[in-house]
Amino acid sequence: MSSRMIRPARAALASALFALVLAALAGCSFKPEKEIWEISGGIFGTTYHISVVMADDQDRLKALSEGIEKAMHDVDMAMSTYKPDSELSRFNSLADQTQWVPVSDALYTVLDKSLEVSRLTNGAFDITVGPLVNLWGFGPEARPEQVPDPNELAQRLAEVGYEKLHLRADPPAVRADSKLYLDLSAIAKGFGVDTVARYLEKEGIQDYLVEIGGEVRVHGNKPGGDAWHLAVEQPVEGARQVNRVVALTDHAMATSGDYRNYYESNGQRYSHTINPETGRPITHNLASVSVVADDCMTADALATGFNVMGWEKASELATRNNIPAYFIVREQDGFETHETPAFSSFVIQ
Ligand code: ADP
Ligand code: MG
Repeated sequence: MSSRMIRPARAALASALFALVLAALAGCSFKPEKEIWEISGGIFGTTYHISVVMADDQDRLKALSEGIEKAMHDVDMAMSTYKPDSELSRFNSLADQTQWVPVSDALYTVLDKSLEVSRLTNGAFDITVGPLVNLWGFGPEARPEQVPDPNELAQRLAEVGYEKLHLRADPPAVRADSKLYLDLSAIAKGFGVDTVARYLEKEGIQDYLVEIGGEVRVHGNKPGGDAWHLAVEQPVEGARQVNRVVALTDHAMATSGDYRNYYESNGQRYSHTINPETGRPITHNLASVSVVADDCMTADALATGFNVMGWEKASELATRNNIPAYFIVREQDGFETHETPAFSSFVIQ
C-alpha cells in the first residue's frame, strides 16, 4: 500500500517537547522520551491505525511499518475470499473437499477458533455462510439488483452448516462432508490484529495499540503510564460520536454493527451479517455489539455471532460465560444500551 504513513501522535509530541524544555531548565542530561508514533494505511478493504510507544528512531519505525505491512499481507493471502489465489480461495475452489487438505498454521488457528465460536453461539457465527453472503451481494460476487429468489436461497441454505467442516490438528488439515464455501471476513480482521500484535512484541515493542477496520488490541500503556482508552462509537452512519469509553491494558475489543455495511432496497435495510438459520440478513434492532477478549480474533467472531443472536439471547449467553459485551439497541426514541457485568469493569465513561 503506497499510502502508508508514519507520524508522531500530536498530544504525545507536545508532552515530549514539554519534557525537553523541563530537562533543559533543570540543566540535567536528557534521555530521549518515548512518544506515540502512528503508522497507518489500508488493508483488507479497510484502514489500519497502529500506535507504538518508543523513542524517536526513524529507521526503526520504517522497518516496523514494513514488517507490519508484511504481517497483514500474509494474513490477506491466507484468508481473503476476494483474492482468487489466497489459501482460502484455493480450498473453496477445490472440486473435492472430502479428503484432508493440508493448511497453514495460521489458517488452522482461525478455522479452529471459528468452529469454537460456532459451537458457543449455537451456529449464529458460521463461516460456511459464504454462499449466502455472496447471494445477498456482500461477497466477491456482484451485488444483486433485487432480493434473491426463494428457490435459490433454499438451495444455498442447504450448503451451509459448520458441522460439515472438520479439522485435524497434526499435521494441520481440513476437510468437508460436502462442498463448502468458507468466508472468514468476520474473523480474519481480528486475526490480522493479533498477528500484528505478535509481530510488535517479537520486535520488542511492549506498548502499542493495533486497530484494523475498527477491531482493536492494546498492550501496555501510553507514555506516562496511562491505560489505552477506546471509544465505542454511537451507531450512526457518518457521524463519529462516542457512546462509551473503556480503558484496556492487555485486551482486544471488536464491534459488529449494521450501521456501516448494508444496502437499502424498497426502504428495507439489508445488513451484511447473515442469520445462518434463515439464510437472510439480520433485521432486528441491535445496532451494534462490542466484545472484549484476550485476543482480537475471539472478540471479532463473538461480536458477529452476538449480532446474529440479537441482544437478549446474546447478553444472556455472554453473562453466563462471563464475556464482556456491550449492546446498543435501536429504540423508537433513540438508543438503549445493555452491558454484561464483565464489561462494566472496563468502562470509565
Ligand atoms: P461486523 O464488524 O459488522 O461483524 P465483519 O466484517 O466482522 O462485520 O463481518 C461481516 C462479514 O462476515 C460479512 O461481510 C460476511 O462476509 C461474513 N458473515 C456474515 N454473516 C456471518 C455469520 N453469521 N457468521 C460468520 N460470518 C458471517
Ligand atoms: Mg466481526
